[in-house]
Amino acid sequence: MEIMNKQNKRWKEFVCRLLEGLNFRKENGKHVWNCDHTHNKSMSILKEMEDVDIAKTMEYFKSNGARCCSCEIMMNIDARD
Ligand SMILES: [Zn+2]
Repeated sequence: MEIMNKQNKRWKEFVCRLLEGLNFRKENGKHVWNCDHTHNKSMSILKEMEDVDIAKTMEYFKSNGARCCSCEIMMNIDARD
């Protein structure tokens, strides 16, 4: 089982699917997306990706700035170096 963090070789794939899942897009020059203020979207993607330790991955997300929402993973974890 793997933890889906930035060091994971599938991280980009995960983020890509998350962007798609949240319908991240540009409207009138602004970035907009659909957010339900939960981690449901990221969790269902992690389940689809298989062999991911979801509980440990959630711990990683929560302690790295994505406390309550899938979009925080893009904003606070992926965008950071
Ligand atoms: Zn959000």
